[in-house]
Amino acid sequence: MAEQMEFSEFCGRLIERTDIVKLISRYTPLRRMGSGYKACCPFHNEKTPSFSVDPVKQLYHCFGCGKGGNAITFVSEIENIDRIDAIRMLADEANMELPQLTGRRAPGLSKQQRSRYYDLMRDAARHYHDNLKLPVAERAREYIKKRELPDNIVTRFGLGYSVGFDEMINFLKSKGYTAAEMKAVGLADQRADKYYDVFHGRLIFPIISNFGQVVAFGGRVLEKSDYAKYRNSAQTEIFDKSRTVYALNLLKKKRRAGPIDYVVMCEGYMDVIALHKAGFDTAVASMGTALTSQQAKQIKNYSDKVIISYDGDGAGQKATMRGLDILRDCGLTVKVASMPDGLDPDEIINRRGADAYRKLLEDALPLTEYKLRSLKAKYNLSDRDEKTKYTAEAVRIIRMLDSPVEIDEYLGVLSKETGYDMSVLRRQAETNAPPAPEADKTEAQATAEEQTEADKTETYLLAALVAGKDYVDPADYDEIFPDGFGKLVTESVTDSRLKGLKDVSAMLYSDLPENMQSKIPPIIDYEFKRLDSREVYGACVLKLKCDRLERESNELAQKYDESKDITLLTRSNELKRRLRKLRGQGGKNER
Ligand SMILES: [Zn+2]
Repeated sequence: MAEQMEFSEFCGRLIERTDIVKLISRYTPLRRMGSGYKACCPFHNEKTPSFSVDPVKQLYHCFGCGKGGNAITFVSEIENIDRIDAIRMLADEANMELPQLTGRRAPGLSKQQRSRYYDLMRDAARHYHDNLKLPVAERAREYIKKRELPDNIVTRFGLGYSVGFDEMINFLKSKGYTAAEMKAVGLADQRADKYYDVFHGRLIFPIISNFGQVVAFGGRVLEKSDYAKYRNSAQTEIFDKSRTVYALNLLKKKRRAGPIDYVVMCEGYMDVIALHKAGFDTAVASMGTALTSQQAKQIKNYSDKVIISYDGDGAGQKATMRGLDILRDCGLTVKVASMPDGLDPDEIINRRGADAYRKLLEDALPLTEYKLRSLKAKYNLSDRDEKTKYTAEAVRIIRMLDSPVEIDEYLGVLSKETGYDMSVLRRQAETNAPPAPEADKTEAQATAEEQTEADKTETYLLAALVAGKDYVDPADYDEIFPDGFGKLVTESVTDSRLKGLKDVSAMLYSDLPENMQSKIPPIIDYEFKRLDSREVYGACVLKLKCDRLERESNELAQKYDESKDITLLTRSNELKRRLRKLRGQGGKNER
């Protein structure tokens, strides 16, 4: 308990110590207005400022999208990181040491170790870059020359060269770093007790976090070899591939100057660099083909629109298509630019010029249209069977759209294309729902689905509690969550609120045991979409209360069957009565 107090006090001091105006102005230009500051909101795209910062209360609020909070919530939201990481980063900047949370270890590295890793990576990146001047870097310079990369681009992206197996190891040792540290950041590996640079002989692309720290490297081979063409740092304590977007740090710089109309998403480092060179300076790349929702959310911090610019028909590959759905599901407008003749963006710019490429971006297709076109190319529509299959597939794509108007529009086009009547297609859209019909489900499947349904409802309710939604009645929670994770969360939040803490989520990490900490982010990072109203809340509470009563009364009835203890039956029947009464209040399901 004392520990918990210490941690919440620490958060309070941290917020006090952090200059929120300075912090936020790194993401969006702030203009003085009266006693506060105004800006275009860094969380949603807007042209007129509705975002305000109060330097006295140290709070921010957006009247457009409703986001608001303190320095901790700001960093965690804009960088899309856990609260505890946001606290750690702000603490680093404020030069404050996180209190030791004994027993419930604060996740991750100590402040010193983390900053040592960053120093190591920065020193390594500089050294790789300096290596480019060495006589032995001839091949790297040739490659840079062949790709016609000017000095300012080489500098902007910090390109470098690894000259051998142990050159970097020796350099870092001379700077006082240990081989174990080099291994921990993914730079070195060891064969027996000999350490070597995993990027030896490669052209180096430093991967830089939003905070400007080098967190990883990508390396490209420069001559034909058996090695993979590209190699990235492995996942380390300072590098999470699924949360990193290459060149996002440059996007962040650009965002400070004004809104970004669209982000160009391409496949690799060299595409990004070639595009920046040609003036398309909002180009980024995911690390590998599979996009994650964390990456999508980070991109959304800078723009609402993404144009996919993969090589040839790169976007058509199935794995990639799923990534595009993820972008869309995060609320981004997704368009796909087709690169003709199997060329990559760099080749198009080189052979046909920047304007030709710009035209491709302008002609990019909305995601649904792109999917339908790729689908159509696979079928011969003059064959009746193929046409039927195509139609069913196409309807499945169309029905994923949110807007009924759009759905109807696309069905209209499909109707013209295939000759099927609109009413037939609409019926198809309604019936070709993916879930299997009830009767086909095994009991186990049905139970499992019900279980995840209940889990989802629980997650929503806990998220609403943590977010402090005004429709939440904490009294409901005691009944719904009599034990386990739900109970601990409820207790932690109630406790924090009693103490007057604004940011209750930070406390969760110190209050909950380690084996439950992985369940915290889904609650803190919950996205309230359709599930966010007094009515929905009421229905969810009712559902869980009923589920619980039903489960308990059935258990009691079963125990009665075994023991014939009449008190059990009485209790079971009483619960059933309460259940009927509750369901009656819900206005439905009454038998
Ligand atoms: Zn906003």
